[in-house]
This record gives sequence, structure tokens and C-alpha cells, in this order.
Amino acid sequence: MALSKRHEWVQQSEIRNMSIECDLMGGINLSQGVCDTEVPLIVRRAAQEAINDGINSYTRYDGIDELREAIAKKQKLYSGMSVSPEEIVVSAGSTGAFYCACLSLLNPGDEVILFEPYYGYHISTLIATQAVPAYVRMTFPDWRFTYEDLERARTPRTRAIMVNTPANPSGKVFSRAELETIAQFAIRNDLFVFTDEIYEHFVYDGLEHIAPATLPGMRERTITISGLSKTFSITGWRVGYSICDARWAQTIGYFNDLVYVCAPAPLQMGVAKGLIDLGPDYYHRLSIEYLGKRDMICGALGEVGLTPCVPHGAYYVLADISRLPGETSKERAMQLLHRTGVACVPGEAFYHDDAGENLARFCFAKENSVLAEACDRLRNLRL
Ligand code: PLP
Repeated sequence: MALSKRHEWVQQSEIRNMSIECDLMGGINLSQGVCDTEVPLIVRRAAQEAINDGINSYTRYDGIDELREAIAKKQKLYSGMSVSPEEIVVSAGSTGAFYCACLSLLNPGDEVILFEPYYGYHISTLIATQAVPAYVRMTFPDWRFTYEDLERARTPRTRAIMVNTPANPSGKVFSRAELETIAQFAIRNDLFVFTDEIYEHFVYDGLEHIAPATLPGMRERTITISGLSKTFSITGWRVGYSICDARWAQTIGYFNDLVYVCAPAPLQMGVAKGLIDLGPDYYHRLSIEYLGKRDMICGALGEVGLTPCVPHGAYYVLADISRLPGETSKERAMQLLHRTGVACVPGEAFYHDDAGENLARFCFAKENSVLAEACDRLRNLRL
């Protein structure tokens, strides 16, 4: 007996590895992107009421009407995208949405261009669905790229490009000009564009989140992926979605049915209520709250000589950890954990080669008291 050949395509993520090391030490976990901030009361109540009201069975494979309608309205209001509920598939988190999109739109061996540093689940999902990643490196600390960089990564097998804005781990918020460059490239080469916009409401410094699907010529080819894990602090609820042309949405929905059947029924109700009732104020307050957290952690990292690359979006910061002893980013991250009890993710988790060896990612989606304690511990580090 043996595992399938596929077992080589998956392994425990470095993010989970560091969380385990952190638990062993009883440390403060700034590695995994789990927000421990409060879930809006309205969302919790609506989910509890749904359970009490007997909404506990399978739902439609693509999600309950109330939720798809609420997502369509939200998308219009905050991104200016006009979509109909038939173009939305609710899934088990944005992770499930991306997996089903890859199964629906990519053939084995198809190449997908990915910006580096990347989010590990993106690359693992591509590999697990037998697609082949190709890389465009954005360089620390300003994360720029050019049309020529995209061209260099293209081959006759290129079928799609993946955009994550605001990005994990870099915090980059893609500008309109950059998205236009990507759009021009995708249209010229007839590519799909997968966009992960789960941090759409975590944008700082007066920048604006732009949904790539809203650019001319992009609607039909863009699969917009997002979810509520981060916005409502409900990473364990597993509610996310994809939005795309109905031609793709139907098959994405069928794969969603096959793998997950549906997202949890009462939790879909809770999320729908939150999307309907929480207005722009909620999202504005959220970004202000996280801006404060960003400044807190970046201040502490800077003071101690772990120079941060201050992020404009999402809730992670990449910092230069080259002053810590060690040969690799993993060794340096472990040094930091042992000396301070603060866990981060080694930079190697975000690159296909050794370009991340001097970097580490710190998540700042923490209650202020926990984050303050982590910052105090970092400040005591002597380098
Ligand atoms: N996409 C990005 C870029 C993320 O950083 C994360 C979580 O860290 C996810 C997706 C996971 O989202 P979900 O909980 O909706 O599956």
C-alpha cells in the first residue's frame, strides 16, 4: 500500500508549522492570518437565529439567494461592479472558491503567472490542480513590475494570471496603472485573470482598492474571488465566493457541489445579514483600526532593527530579519521565536527560490493588548 502520486503535491504549510512551534512555546502567534478581533454582533446573532430557526440543511450548491443578492449589492456599492446573483458561487471560503475555479478553468500543464512574493495557498492550489506556476518577481521594498516582466514569464502554455490585491504577504495595493498593465497583457494573450480580493477593505494611506474586473475588457475573463473571513473576523466559518461570467460560474458551482456540497447554511445567513446591515462606516472603522495596528507593529520592528516594508493594505508586514543569526529565514524565525516568544513566518514560504531568506512576515490582526505585548517583547530583542 502507498500514498497516491498526488501526495507529493501537498504538504503542511510553513504558516501552520510556525503556529505549532509557537504553541509548543506558549508564544504569541503573529504567523497565521487568523484575526482574533471581534465578530460583529449582528453577524453572530443572525447565524444563531438561523440555527434556532432550523436553517441547518444543505443549501443550493451555489449559496442561498439572500447571500448571493447581498454580495451582488455589496460589489456594486464598493467596487462599482454590476453582477447578477447567477454570476456568484458561494463556497467554503475563498480558498474553496479558488480551488473550484482552478478545477473548472485549467487543464493539467496549463501555466499560471503568479506575482512573487506569493500567498502559499495560491501556489499549492495551482499545483494540486496540476497547473504549473510561473513567477514574476516584485522586488523588496516597492514591489514594482513591468509589462516586460509579464512577457518574460509567458510561454505558449500560459493560460491565466493570478492577482492578489491587497496582497498577502507584501501588503501591496495594485494601482490602476498596474492593473491596466495586467489587463493589457491578459487581453492581448487571451488569459483568464484570477483575482483574490479578500483584503479589499483593508486599505490604508488614502489608497483605493480597485477590482480588476472593472477595467475595460476584463469582466469576461476575470474570476473575482473573495470572502468574509477577514472582514467579519470569521476565518473558521468558511464562507467565501467567486464572481465571474455565468459561463464559468455554472461549472465552478458544480465543482463546489462535488467538493463541499455547500457552505454552512446558518453561517451563510449570518454573513448575508452582516453584508446587508453593515454600512460603509463599518468598513471605514475597520481600516482605521487596522491602520493603528500596522503602525504599532511597524514601529516596534523598526526600533529594533528588523526594518519593515510598511504595507499599504492587508494585515501583514514583511520585515528584513537579516540581522538575526541563522543561515535561512526558517533558522532566523526560530531564533526570534526562542528569544522573544513571537512567531512569524519565514520569508522562504513566499518565494520559489532563496529570495526570501532575509525576510519574515508578521501578522498584525490581533487584539491591541496582544499586539502590544508582542511589540514589547520585540523591543527587548538585542541584536
Ligand atoms: N487569500 C488570501 C490572500 C489569504 O491571505 C487568506 C488567508 O490568510 C485566504 C485567501 C483564505 O481565505 P478564506 O478563509 O476565505 O479561505
